[in-house]
Amino acid sequence: MIRFPTSLFTRPALFIYAGIGITLATTGVTVASLYEMRLDAMAQARVAAQNLVISLQKEIERNLDIYQLAMRDVATSAETPSIIRLPPEVRQLVAFSSAANAAELGALFATDATGKLILDSRSIPPRKLSVSGRDYFQIQRLQSNAGLYISAPFLPYAEEPEIPQIALSRRLEDKDGQFAGIVAGTLRLSYFRHLFEDSILGRHDTITLLRMDGTVLMRQPFHVGDIGKSLAGGHSFEPLVRSGQGTYIDIAVLDHVERLYTFRRIGSYPLVVVVGFATDDIFAGWRKRAITIGIVSVILDALLILLLLMFSRQLRKRLAMERRLQRLAWFDSLTGLPNRVQLQREALRMLTEAKRTGTTLAVLFIDLDRFKRVNDTQGHSAGDEVLREIARRLQDQIHTGDVIGRLGGDEFLAVLRECDVLKAKHVAGRILQAVFQPILINSKQDTRITISASIGIALSPLDGEETDILLRNADLAMYRAKSAGRNQMQFYAPEYERQAKEQLELEIALQRALRANALSVAYQPKVDATGVLCGVEALVRWDDDRQGSIAPDRFIAIAEESGLIAEMDAWVMGEACRQLAQWRAEGLDVPNVSVNVCAADFKRPDYPDFVIATLQFHGLAAADLTLEMTERVLFDESVADIRKSLDAIHALGVALSIDDFGTGYSSLSYLHRFAVKELKIDKSFVQGIGRDAMAESLTQTLVRLGKILKLTVTAEGVETHAQRDFLRTHGCHLYQGFLFSPPLAPHDFARWVRALPAACPTSFSPSRPSPQANPAKGVRFATNCAEKAVDP
Ligand code: C2E
Ligand code: CA
Ligand code: CA
Repeated sequence: MIRFPTSLFTRPALFIYAGIGITLATTGVTVASLYEMRLDAMAQARVAAQNLVISLQKEIERNLDIYQLAMRDVATSAETPSIIRLPPEVRQLVAFSSAANAAELGALFATDATGKLILDSRSIPPRKLSVSGRDYFQIQRLQSNAGLYISAPFLPYAEEPEIPQIALSRRLEDKDGQFAGIVAGTLRLSYFRHLFEDSILGRHDTITLLRMDGTVLMRQPFHVGDIGKSLAGGHSFEPLVRSGQGTYIDIAVLDHVERLYTFRRIGSYPLVVVVGFATDDIFAGWRKRAITIGIVSVILDALLILLLLMFSRQLRKRLAMERRLQRLAWFDSLTGLPNRVQLQREALRMLTEAKRTGTTLAVLFIDLDRFKRVNDTQGHSAGDEVLREIARRLQDQIHTGDVIGRLGGDEFLAVLRECDVLKAKHVAGRILQAVFQPILINSKQDTRITISASIGIALSPLDGEETDILLRNADLAMYRAKSAGRNQMQFYAPEYERQAKEQLELEIALQRALRANALSVAYQPKVDATGVLCGVEALVRWDDDRQGSIAPDRFIAIAEESGLIAEMDAWVMGEACRQLAQWRAEGLDVPNVSVNVCAADFKRPDYPDFVIATLQFHGLAAADLTLEMTERVLFDESVADIRKSLDAIHALGVALSIDDFGTGYSSLSYLHRFAVKELKIDKSFVQGIGRDAMAESLTQTLVRLGKILKLTVTAEGVETHAQRDFLRTHGCHLYQGFLFSPPLAPHDFARWVRALPAACPTSFSPSRPSPQANPAKGVRFATNCAEKAVDP
C-alpha cells in the first residue's frame, strides 16, 4: 500500500489552505510592489514638476529684472531736471537705452501726475494718451508705498488690441515727495504664452502664472477666457501665497481636474508660477503596468489554485482508494464487519485499555450450528444471505465501544468492554435469541431458515491476559457448548484446556494405533427368542499401551472430530469380514456380521465400491453384512451425498439397521425410503423394563411399530431374564446383551458359539424372513450357558 510521509498529504484540505496562503502572500507582495511603484511615479512627477517650475521661475525673474532696470532708467530720465531740459529726441534716447534688452516688451512710458504720457518708447513726441483710468495709475497715485505694482491683464488702447497685456508700474515723486506721475512698462502676455508653450507637457498638464491676489495672468493650455480670472477661492490658494514654494495635490478650480501642483514665487515679484501635472497622466504608465501585472498575477493565482484543486482531487481519490484498500484489508467483504486482522487489532487495543483501567473484558466466540447444512441444501448465495442477516443481528446486540467481527466461515467474535460474568451472560443470551429467530431468505421466496449458535465466553483477566489466549479459551468453551448440545453458551473453565490437550494426545495416539494396526474388534452375538445365533455385532476396541483400554464412546467421538472415523470404520469392516470368513472356514456357522457406520463413511464417494470390494475380497455375499447407523446419519448436513450412497448400498443388497432407535428424530418416512431391515431398540428403553412404566410402554410401542413396518426388531442391552421375557411377550425378534454375552474377543466368541447346544426348532418366526433371522440357519443357545460363558 502506498503511504504518504506527512500529515499534509493525508489531508487534502490542508493542501488547499496552504495553496490559498501562498496565493494570498504573492498577491500581497504584488499589491505592495504596485503601491511602491505608484509612489515612485508620484515622486518622479514631483521632481519633474519642480525642475520645470524652477526653470520657468528663473527665466521669468531674469526678464522681469531686466525690465525693471529699463523702468529705472525711464524714471531717472523723468525725474532728473538736467535730462528733462534736453531736447526730446536725446531725452528719448537716454530714457530707453536699456529697454532693448527686455524681451516681449510692450511699451515703456512715464506720465505726469494727471496720467498724461511724458515719455513714450513708441513715439517722439509721446502719444497723446492718458492712463489715468488704468488701475495701475490709480494705485500708484493713491498709495505712496505701492512699490512695483503689477496690473491685472488688460487690452491696450491702440496697437495689437487683441493681445492682452499687463503693466508694471512705479510711482514718481517730486522733490517734496508729492505724487508726480508713474513710470510703467506694458508686457505682452504672449511672452509668457510662448515661454510656457516651449515646455513639453501632457494633455492635462498646466502652467499658470498668478498674481499674488490669485488673478490668472497666463495659463497653458491657453484659453482667452481664463485670463484675468481669480483663483483666490481655491482651498490651496492660501498656503500657496504664504510660502514661497511648495507642492500639493488638488482639484483645479478652472477645469476640475486633479493635479499635482508645484509652485514657486518669482523672486520678490508678486507673482507665482504653478506647474500642474494631472495625476491621471502621472499614473497612466503605472496604471498600465499595474493592470498587466494584476492580470498576470490573477491568471497565475487562478492557475495555481486550479492546479491545487486538481492535485487535491487526485489526492482525495487516492486517499479514498487507500481507505478502500484498508477496508478490504480490515473488513469482511460479505458482512462489512471487521475481519480477523481487524478484530485482533481491536481486541489488543481494548485489552490494553482494560489493563490500564483495571476493568474486565469478555471475548465471545460465536459459531453457528450446522451452518454447512444451509449451504448444502439452500446453496451458497442463500448461505451468504444468512451470514449477512446474522451479522446484522449480532451488530444490533453490541453496544458502542464494543466490537463484533467475523473470523471467517460461520465464526464470529465479540469483544465487550467492562464486562463481567453477568453482563457477558446477558449479552450472550440476547445473541442466542437473536440468532434463533427465523431468517427469511430473499432470494428464495417463502424459505425460512432457523439456525442456532453456540457461544464460548472467556473473560479477561481471569481466563487470560493475551488476545491469543483469550481467543483460544473462548474457542474451547464454544466447543464445549457444541458438545453439550448446541444453541447455548459456555464459560471457559481451566479444565477445558487440560481436556483439550488430552483430547489432542488421544487423537495422535489413536491415529498411531490405527496405522499400526493396534485396534481390535470385539464381537457380540445377536440371538432370537429360542437362543439361536442370528448375527454378530462388530465393536471396535482400543487398548493403549500407556492408557489401557479406552472406552469406544470416548475415542469414537475423537475419531469423528478429527476425521479419522472413516478410516477406522473401514478397517473395522475389513477386519469383521475377514473374521467372519475365517470363522466360516473353521466350520463355525455365523450367519451375519453387523458393523457400525456413521455419516462420514457415506460421504466417501467410493464407499459403495469399497463395501462390495471388501465383501468380494473375503469371499462374502452382500447378505452376510449389515450396516448399523443411527437416525442422525439421515439428518446429517450432507444428506444428499449420504442418500446417494445409501441407495447404492441398498442396491447391493447389504442390509441397513437403525441403531439406538427411539432416541433420535423418529421420522418414520425414511424407514421406507431407504429399505431399512432392522430396528435396534436403544438399551435405555430396554433397561427401563421392570423399573419404569414409561420405558416399558415406549418399548412396547417401538416393538409394535417395527412389526407394523415389517422390520426385524432387535433389543440391545438385554441384561436380565425379566427384560428378555417382557420383550418376548411383546414379540421382539432378536436380542443382544450381557444376558447372552458381552462383546468378546474373536477366539472367545468362537468358544461361545461352540458351547451353544445344538439347534432346535424355534417358537419364533420373524414376520419378514431375513438371512440372519432364519432359524434353520441359526444356532440355538442356552441362557445359562451364555451367562457363564465369559466375564464381560
Ligand atoms: P452401539 O452400536 O449401541 O453398541 C452397543 C453398545 O452397547 C456397545 O458398547 C456394547 O458393549 C454395549 N452393550 C452390549 N450389551 C450391553 C448390555 O447388556 N448392557 C450395557 N450397558 N451395554 C451393553 P461399546 O462397545 O462401548 O460401543 C459404544 C458405541 O460405540 C456403539 O454403540 C457404537 O455406536 C459405537 N461403535 C462401536 N464400534 C464402532 C465402530 O467400529 N464404528 C463406529 N462408527 N462406531 C462404533
Ligand atoms: Ca451398534
Ligand atoms: Ca445401539
